[in-house]
Amino acid sequence: MKIGIIGAGAVGLYTGLNLLSQGYEVYIFEEHESIGLPMHCTGIVSEDTVEEHISRYIDVEDVFLYKTNRLTLNIADKYILSKESRHKVYIIDRAELDRKLAEIFIDSGGVINLNSKSRWLDNAIMSEKGEKYLFDIIIVAKGAIGAIERRGMVDILPGYQVDLYSEKEEWRDTINFYINKKLNSDFFLWTVPIDGGKPIYRVGTATHNNPRRALEHFIGDSLSRNIMNKYHGHIVLTGPITPFTEGNVVYIGDSAGQTKVTTGGGLRYGFSAGDILSQVISENEDLEKYEEIWLDKWGREIKLQEIARKIYLKLSENEIINILSDLDNVGIIDKFLMKGEVDMHARSLLRLLIGAPKSVRHLTKIIFKLIG
Ligand SMILES: Cc1cc2nc3c(=O)[nH]c(=O)nc-3n(C[C@H](O)[C@H](O)[C@H](O)COP(=O)(O)OP(=O)(O)OC[C@H]3O[C@@H](n4cnc5c(N)ncnc54)[C@H](O)[C@@H]3O)c2cc1C
Repeated sequence: MKIGIIGAGAVGLYTGLNLLSQGYEVYIFEEHESIGLPMHCTGIVSEDTVEEHISRYIDVEDVFLYKTNRLTLNIADKYILSKESRHKVYIIDRAELDRKLAEIFIDSGGVINLNSKSRWLDNAIMSEKGEKYLFDIIIVAKGAIGAIERRGMVDILPGYQVDLYSEKEEWRDTINFYINKKLNSDFFLWTVPIDGGKPIYRVGTATHNNPRRALEHFIGDSLSRNIMNKYHGHIVLTGPITPFTEGNVVYIGDSAGQTKVTTGGGLRYGFSAGDILSQVISENEDLEKYEEIWLDKWGREIKLQEIARKIYLKLSENEIINILSDLDNVGIIDKFLMKGEVDMHARSLLRLLIGAPKSVRHLTKIIFKLIG
């Protein structure tokens, strides 16, 4: 069986590798002239993502930038919560991850056509150069552009990031999340260390309302002189874009909206989709089964994340501070960081809220009132 994949991003390559290892002929079409660039991702992944997916094909040391279990939340400089989680969070070099996956894909007999901006029609992939290739199954892994084509710009936020040198003590050895509704009312800002030896950080944000301007305000003039790299990309917060399957064409990764609605992180859900899809294909099941299994695994979590995002958009900074300090006072934040799962964070938190003491149960009520 011949399988064609449009898009040589991490999810397209990973799915292609799974299918190659199951004995299929796999061809990938990539519009750019090199793999991994332009890069748009921060590179934060959970330990589970490393263990269950990345390590299957590559040594994580080859793409490793930083590892930490300290997470810090800063709300408009009025409230700071800095804690250690039981789980380490990895920051990986995303461009290098894609390049390594591509190398193994080619070494395993797969074919990548670079400079091939492509589209599909019926059972064919057609490149802009006029070439046409027939396939039994076509997988669309075009990233956020695939999501925008299918759902428009609704909750797909333009993102902007920079790498810079900074001596700021508060950025060291932690992933920082900054909530500042004046700078960014629909998302947050972040800093992550990306070099173990030097104080170099990836700093970013995403918003419908000019992410570059928001980030420039956040960084300030003095640090803007230390910028080394700049990245643009779209964060998909729109939820799963179903159906995942149309005939013999299957959507995967960001193109299928397989991202966390709270953070936009897409690697874990996209790789998981790659596992499910390749298993469905190898077991000769109906392709629709892929959507059913994926939603069964992640659908409920994403629904909860959708609720969390709605709440986040409605709350003021002070309301968020009140809720968090209440939760912290009764130990729920600590329990969440010890017991919660990074990739199932909404479900983990809800479980703790349900079992919470009466003093904070009123929060759940407020929350449900807010979302109507
Ligand atoms: C600012 C930002 C920060 C992020 N940070 C994180 C993070 O820390 N952790 C995390 O898990 N996720 C993060 N994400 C999300 C993550 O980058 C995506 O979920 C992930 O890249 C999805 O992989 P993909 O293979 O589906 O798409 P992509 O990685 O976008 O790959 C799609 C590929 O398809 C190619 N392509 C597109 N159209 C065509 C066409 N017509 N023909 C041929 N090729 C085409 C593109 O060139 C690209 O190579 C972030 C996203 C952004 C924007």
